[in-house]
Amino acid sequence: MNEFSSAAETASRIRNGDITASAVIEETLRVIEEKEKDLNALITFLREEALQEAKELDRRIAAGEADGPLLGVPVVVKDNMCTKGIKTTCGSRILERWKPPYDAWVVEKLREAGAILVGKSNMDEFAMGSSTEHSAYGPASNPWDIERVTGGSSGGSAASVSAGYVPVALGSDTGGSIRQPAAFCGVFGMKPTYGLVSRFGLVAFASSLDQIGPFARNVEDLALMLSVISEHDPRDATCVGADRPDYLAAAERSSLAGVKVGVVREFLTAAVEPEISKAVLDTAAAMKEAGASLVDVKLPSAGKAGLPCYYILAPAEASSNLARYDGIRYGKREEAGDLMELYFKTRGSGFGKEVKRRILTGTYVLSSGYYDAFYLRALKVRRLICMEFESAFEKADLILMPTAPSLPFRKGELVDDPLQMYMSDVFTLPVNLAGLPGLSMCVGRSGKGLPLGVQLVAPQWQESLILKCGRAVEDAFGPAPVAGRGGM
Ligand code: GLN
Repeated sequence: MNEFSSAAETASRIRNGDITASAVIEETLRVIEEKEKDLNALITFLREEALQEAKELDRRIAAGEADGPLLGVPVVVKDNMCTKGIKTTCGSRILERWKPPYDAWVVEKLREAGAILVGKSNMDEFAMGSSTEHSAYGPASNPWDIERVTGGSSGGSAASVSAGYVPVALGSDTGGSIRQPAAFCGVFGMKPTYGLVSRFGLVAFASSLDQIGPFARNVEDLALMLSVISEHDPRDATCVGADRPDYLAAAERSSLAGVKVGVVREFLTAAVEPEISKAVLDTAAAMKEAGASLVDVKLPSAGKAGLPCYYILAPAEASSNLARYDGIRYGKREEAGDLMELYFKTRGSGFGKEVKRRILTGTYVLSSGYYDAFYLRALKVRRLICMEFESAFEKADLILMPTAPSLPFRKGELVDDPLQMYMSDVFTLPVNLAGLPGLSMCVGRSGKGLPLGVQLVAPQWQESLILKCGRAVEDAFGPAPVAGRGGM
């Protein structure tokens, strides 16, 4: 058992008694200790807690009291998911001391499934960003090239899986924050349909867009994670709780005969890195080889108006959600003479630049004089984008496109250029606006050795179809290797 093992393998070997959970966790801690200085993928490292839990789990396994699909599997979750008694910072100074009194639903589910939490991962502050450079705890580094960014905002989770800390991790995706870092770090990352996974205990950014999803190095592990976290939760009113299909069966090797894959050729322009456009076409060819047929589809509004629409709606929702960090609750409080000064000083020192920019934008687009011109109009554009996807899905069963227009960029390159940074999500955020599931897959490496990512998007609740097609793509290009070792 080592850093290359999958979650499914690890759980089954522990279940069979081939290896103990303690041995798995010791190896995990060794890998983290070796690489974390370079990567800064974790905000909180739960070293002692993980060892303790593994020991206790081994005792319960020996007594025949413990089992579960993730038995003894080390996991990392993004630091915007509540963990009882464990710091949950959201990458922000304003929450640097906050310890939630409860576990998020997904954390509860992981624990019930036998997983062992080894860390809380680094992220852009309040999940706002595409590089993990907007973290109050320093940027994370890309395991393929530590001078480059991991992508974001779930960059720490993507890097943890890419570097072999853990086989699986959780992130959240509001406009691309699972898929874009998955592409940058060379792993698989899935944003489920809005409403499949409970957001209970996920610190809210933009509530109509936020969704939790898994990272892994192969499709089977994604399916395993999805089956664990997608159970219905009555505490999130948007959690739909439909009958869950057998995701593991969907991820088994099968022919793609009868599947129509829509390729958005209009997205493969000069603005997209040529090696990424080629990766999309190579993936299309591999899917055809596996039995699928290819059709052309168009998404003109998603491509043109998606970005401005998202950057009105997401900040609008954020400005409201982040009003709760007022210096009264959540720990951080600056000295002040009166209440107004307390708000100003605490929020002034507690929030970083990008978060302030979003709050200001959001407040502006919601203000009475501009509401119709910006917010209301963006809602209409959102509807248009949904309809455009609906008509594309009349021609195709699912859609193939780039995950991001560029390869992982260098640290510092875009951090002072918010508009360029926002462009990183141009292909991912329309998927959130329409509430659809999307999967970013690693399909090889560029001439410079950087990971190439492409994205599959399906109609709502068609996670099984995505997994089936994702598996065919994985069979063609191989599972994601641990960065710097073997494969591809
Ligand atoms: N990068 C996008 C943003 O900054 C998306 C973030 C996310 O999905 N959480 O808003």
